Amino acid sequence: MSMLVLEDVHTHYGKIEALHGVSVEVNKGEIVSLIGANGAGKTTLLMTVCGSPQASSGRIILEGRDITRDPTANIMRSGIAIVPEGRRIFSSLTVEENLQMGGFFKSNAENRKSQDHVYSLFPRLKEREFQRAGTMSGGEQQMLAIGRALMSKPKMIILDEPSLGLAPLVIKQIFEIIGHLRDEGITVFLVEQNANQALSLADRGYVLETGRIRLHDTGANLLANPDVRAAYLGG
Ligand code: ATP
Repeated sequence: MSMLVLEDVHTHYGKIEALHGVSVEVNKGEIVSLIGANGAGKTTLLMTVCGSPQASSGRIILEGRDITRDPTANIMRSGIAIVPEGRRIFSSLTVEENLQMGGFFKSNAENRKSQDHVYSLFPRLKEREFQRAGTMSGGEQQMLAIGRALMSKPKMIILDEPSLGLAPLVIKQIFEIIGHLRDEGITVFLVEQNANQALSLADRGYVLETGRIRLHDTGANLLANPDVRAAYLGG
């Protein structure tokens, strides 16, 4: 059963075409990883799903509904949550205030429940509930960015390079948490340059090169693929 389908999606920045007909399918309950080098178009693909920029042609289907021309705010209300590259947390707000921003569309009662759930997933955030987010470590800020996304109780979470700039041990924790989200029934679409971890965790993966999907297969098969190993896993 499909959660998200991209069919032959083209995206332009002005006259420049960044995605040249990309097709991707994410099934419900899966972790799907998209890997690719700098500038391959990974962030563009994610942002196109969110409607900013909009696809110039092709179709984006969320749970059977065509969302290609929907405004971003509507897409964000339809069960997708995004954890953007660079985390984009509110540095001068506390952990708790950041979480409340993530639950903006929900009632107070729902937010309290979601917040308790986030704190149960991330006890570290509970300990730091009243700390200003900008003073936390990179790993804690990434946990907060994920926690904030969970506040809207998404069916699918989209993560843009969650391991960027983090130490190996912290990366391991973040990937464990992502695995846990799948166990809770949340569909995960993960964009990563850290191909090894992203493919190890993924049910399926896609390789994006200069705006085109070059390969797609199970995570395990991609990890074993000599071309993928040479290009993304250091041989
Ligand atoms: P990175 O890992 O470095 O973030 P990426 O795979 O996410 O790379 P994108 O950021 O999607 O790649 O960029 C894909 C292409 O689109 C690049 O050539 C980039 O220069 C171009 N691009 C991205 N954003 C814009 C923009 N706002 N205006 C014009 N061109 C853009």
